Amino acid sequence: MSPTRRSFIATSGTTLLSLACAPAVIARRADHDLVIRGGTLFDGTGSDGRDMDLAITAGRIVAVAPHLPEHGREEIDARGLAVAPGFIDIHSHGDGTLEEDPRAESVIRQGITTIVVGVDGSSRATGAEDKSFPALFDALDRLHPGPNVASMVGLGTLRGAVIGEVDRPATAAELARMTEMVEHALTEGACGASSGLEYTPGAFASRDELIALCRPLATRRLPYATHMRNEDDRVLEAIDESIAVARGAGCPLQISHLKTQGPRNWKKLDQIFVLIEAAHAARTDITFDRYPYVAYATGLTNLFPVWSRDGGIDSFLARTVDPAAAPRIRQETLAKVELIGGWDDVQLSGVHAAEDRDAEGKRLGAYARALALDPYDVALELLRRSHGDVGMLGYAMSEENLERILAHPLGMVCTDGGAFAIDGPTRRGSPHPRGAGSFPRVLGRYVRERNVMSLATAIRKMTSMPAARVSLTDRGCLAPGMAADVVVFDPARVADRATFDAPFQYPVGINIVIVNGMIALRDGQRNAMGSGRAVRAEKGTKAA
Ligand SMILES: [Zn+2]
Repeated sequence: MSPTRRSFIATSGTTLLSLACAPAVIARRADHDLVIRGGTLFDGTGSDGRDMDLAITAGRIVAVAPHLPEHGREEIDARGLAVAPGFIDIHSHGDGTLEEDPRAESVIRQGITTIVVGVDGSSRATGAEDKSFPALFDALDRLHPGPNVASMVGLGTLRGAVIGEVDRPATAAELARMTEMVEHALTEGACGASSGLEYTPGAFASRDELIALCRPLATRRLPYATHMRNEDDRVLEAIDESIAVARGAGCPLQISHLKTQGPRNWKKLDQIFVLIEAAHAARTDITFDRYPYVAYATGLTNLFPVWSRDGGIDSFLARTVDPAAAPRIRQETLAKVELIGGWDDVQLSGVHAAEDRDAEGKRLGAYARALALDPYDVALELLRRSHGDVGMLGYAMSEENLERILAHPLGMVCTDGGAFAIDGPTRRGSPHPRGAGSFPRVLGRYVRERNVMSLATAIRKMTSMPAARVSLTDRGCLAPGMAADVVVFDPARVADRATFDAPFQYPVGINIVIVNGMIALRDGQRNAMGSGRAVRAEKGTKAA
């Protein structure tokens, strides 16, 4: 007998038995795959929570109503808990480790169901034939990642591919080629274009080059997302430039991880808001995002002036020992460190060289004192031994400004973090805790404890706002027809646990995470694997 026929007979037998036991058993026939019952449902639009049940079938939300009479094959009791759309992280570096560990456990555990990668000017695909977005999306689907993954096209990556690592303007032909690649990328489903103007080679792009490259975003209403040219002494000029690029191209603008670095720049937040609100009032489609911590994370090379990094890491290392350049590099770097606060406000988050592993997690000032060496020389030696691959955290931001940025009506929540698992190969170094704590930290510290904004507002900043920003039209809201990305959490208990000293800790109070109708996290523990997939920006696809 074939398996199909055997299972058919088994099924009919069950049916007959059910009929014999009617009506109780028939009444328990499943109408839906899953019903979440009795929770306080926040639909993601900013509306207050309401007592609603929610039904899911075949990966879609099919009903949202009070006291749903239908039954699910599986039912989740959400009494006393909040039910919200799965969170969307609009600025994620999760793409760095998905191949090593596609579970992205630190992402799922925060209630994040979709990550937007390809940010800060750097993406895995370019829109060129040999590095296309369909190929990237296919590769992601084959990986079966925990969360869904959307990607922007990185303008720094494009510049590197077409022009190289050098500091010179693009020729007309190069500009045409890069614009064509952006056009391709968006047609193929990239959800925006990103720049990283403090990183090389992206920093070598002029304002006019950026305007030209952003024009294809305009008709699709996809954003230019920018890590601005400066986030400290010249942050106001950088805001001006970002707005000018969006205006010149006619496209939406997303300012990435908005901040004011260095105590002497903290007072500039008022002026930043004036510039942003004026642009908004003049109909520039402008929003921004921020992670909920007062330290940033970047490469240690970022302490050094952009001009010293022209040509890549080998040219940089050569310049640091060239008598014609070395004194100026040292002087400008020390000025940057002083702006942050000093070498003890620089923490080493990861080194490539095995012999320097003991430096990880230490403040650079303290580490140098222990070695009885000059901290600048230690920084250079670490970079030399790790060939530039050294990560740092900078404790440079204001807590008060952080709250104002998070609460601003144009602000969204992001992690800016990587993805890792505490039990896998991606547990290494001493990373910024934002990769494991950002979204629960906003819900716990900034909503429940500090009352910086309402729970409904915070959820909107984590769901419908980012979904609309990158045109993920069937995510970010709880309504029939939407993809079934859902998080069930306890507003009274949700909190981050990762710290700067002990980053490998998952948050608490996130109970259930559902991605595309699959339960990825149940009772705070890993359940189904591979629930996510590549997601394409809707308007980018339509414009094809
Ligand atoms: Zn950045």
